[in-house]
Amino acid sequence: FIQALQLPQDERDKEQKAPELTEVQKKKLDIEETKKSLPIFPFKEDIIAAVREHQILIIEGETGSGKTTQIPQYLHEAGFTNDGKKIGCTQPRRVAAMSVAARVAQEMGVKLGNEVGYSIRFEDCTSERTIIKYMTDGTLHREFLSEPDLQTYSVMMIDEAHERTLHTDILFGLVKDIARFRPDLKLLISSATLDAQKFSEFFDEAPIYRIPGRRFPVDIYYTRAPEADYVDACVVSVLQIHATQPLGDILVFLTGQDEIETCQELLQDRVRRLGSKLKELLILPVYANLPSDMQAKIFMPTPPGARKVVLATNIAETSLTIDNIIYVIDPGFAKQNHFNSRTGMESLMVVPISKASANQRAGRAGRVAPGKCFRLYTAWSYKHELEDNTIPEIQRINLGNAVLMLKALGINDLVHFDFLDPPPHETLVLALEQLYALGALNHHGELTKLGRRMAEFPVDPMMAKMLLASEKYKCSEEIVTIGAMLSVNSAIFYRPKDKIIHADTARKNFNHIGGDHLSLLNVYNQWRDSDHSTQWCYENFIQYRSMKRARDVREQLVGLMQRVEIDMVTNVSETADIRKAITAGYFYHIARLSKGGSYKTVKHNQSVTIHPNSALFEELPRWLLYHELVFTTKEFMRQVIEIESKWLLEVAPHYYKPKELEDSTNKKMPKTIGRSQMTE
Ligand code: ADP
Ligand code: MG
Repeated sequence: FIQALQLPQDERDKEQKAPELTEVQKKKLDIEETKKSLPIFPFKEDIIAAVREHQILIIEGETGSGKTTQIPQYLHEAGFTNDGKKIGCTQPRRVAAMSVAARVAQEMGVKLGNEVGYSIRFEDCTSERTIIKYMTDGTLHREFLSEPDLQTYSVMMIDEAHERTLHTDILFGLVKDIARFRPDLKLLISSATLDAQKFSEFFDEAPIYRIPGRRFPVDIYYTRAPEADYVDACVVSVLQIHATQPLGDILVFLTGQDEIETCQELLQDRVRRLGSKLKELLILPVYANLPSDMQAKIFMPTPPGARKVVLATNIAETSLTIDNIIYVIDPGFAKQNHFNSRTGMESLMVVPISKASANQRAGRAGRVAPGKCFRLYTAWSYKHELEDNTIPEIQRINLGNAVLMLKALGINDLVHFDFLDPPPHETLVLALEQLYALGALNHHGELTKLGRRMAEFPVDPMMAKMLLASEKYKCSEEIVTIGAMLSVNSAIFYRPKDKIIHADTARKNFNHIGGDHLSLLNVYNQWRDSDHSTQWCYENFIQYRSMKRARDVREQLVGLMQRVEIDMVTNVSETADIRKAITAGYFYHIARLSKGGSYKTVKHNQSVTIHPNSALFEELPRWLLYHELVFTTKEFMRQVIEIESKWLLEVAPHYYKPKELEDSTNKKMPKTIGRSQMTE
């Protein structure tokens, strides 16, 4: 002890620093080794040469081969960023953009946000120095507004093209057009699967570069009968694998955060009860709203003797690759947005995946060694019930947002836009009608001044309209808060299994009789008054991270409001004005109480139900506005407020006729009808 203390200064320094240095060196070596071991590595020079030679290149390679993380680095090393221009790479998912950027920054030994950065909606982690930029496809779509020729980029890689998200599909048309008058811009379209030929044809026969994959065989197992509760079936399967199968990590595909949390709790619970009989099991979730430090955990190597189980959404299907997965559990479902162009209703629902998806999922088990995939459905279902391919988003979702963006880019003739697969005609027409009703387009289909302002906001047109309408109703402070809270909505209230009653009581304290939007406003304002305290969140069963995110989003929205010159004012006395501003944006989402206490949408008479979590669940007001529909056992309206029918004539005179809004509950229906029938 004493001797150690008496060591001369420089000696002690050495002793402390020496191991640290080797740690860093070791890490660097590790990274070099890993990079070299990727399937793409032997083709590095080849790929660089191909990019030099061709302006547009289609790249196809098995998931995990290194396309996303390596190609931008290769091109950077080859000098494509020398003239001060950037390499851009789009991702359909936020989590992927963040996680991949973090990885590449680490590989290049730079701080995230400097040379390597990412940009996603409401969050820009880039700087003047950024030369490799990952972003969501939606973000690039918006960048066209300020930089229509992508002048600051030397290379643009449209990645995960096979996912065929709406934004990616529209980007295809936009970048193809730009490539014509910017011969110096290199375009890469990269994809995991079989669509390469189709992409090549679209991009005027651009050459296809195939990265030979390495794949080990994966044995597929089916259940004998359909599973009634697939979350429970997942839990049982994980434990069975853990108890009976050799070590190797497990990947479970679930449909969303709620399910993942339920599954996580069930698993933790059972593992705890089984005690020390089992080897260590690390349970790690990954979904879009998961904070990034938690996301990073899924990539940490599993300690020797332990097993990791990753509970993931579709994100792990192709966007993220987790090494050392040997077992995959696939219940066969995913959450999808569905739009019914007949009723104009859009809703989020859990649907069976396609065969292509099922095969991608199974493939995740065979990256490092032979693997096993457990499908929690029958072989018969796979064969007869699953579609071959997932329908591209452009053919199944509401196009309001996309159409507004295209109009803002000056693209007026949407029918002749260069789509890889065109959207259904009626969906396009409906989007135009909706934008017209919102006041974003005039009757020639041209963007109005209001429409131009709406396009400034990276939100859907209804929310943009709501934000702008707050000017008229003098409640911009409140509406911006509501907009921010709705943007993070699913993860605000915390409901741990062992404290459900406490959590629900806490939640009820925020309830506002006007409806859920106002309850959310209460939550935010009380949190703000607590000085944004973590303790307050803890005591009130509120997720602190979500609130922090709401605060970030709010700040950005305030900035955008200033940009379109709307003053931030508050209206504390009248919640009716706040609700009118909301109605000005969401007048499409109106339901009316009908006989027997059920709700029907006004225009199309579809049955809808108030979500049990709502403050109005037991109130049953005559007229309701809902924020969104979620389909589980039936169509649930999530986040509802009470409105007055006459407001609809005030905010949407083009859309509603007084006759449609006559209050059926005022008429003495059954008797009168009966009598008049008798007399006739
Ligand atoms: P592809 O785009 O071809 O599917 P990627 O470039 O995404 O392949 O992945 C290449 C490798 O990088 C994989 O082994 C993956 O596990 C690793 N990787 C990607 N992101 C991270 C991360 N955030 N942390 C650690 N490893 C990562
Ligand atoms: Mg990738």
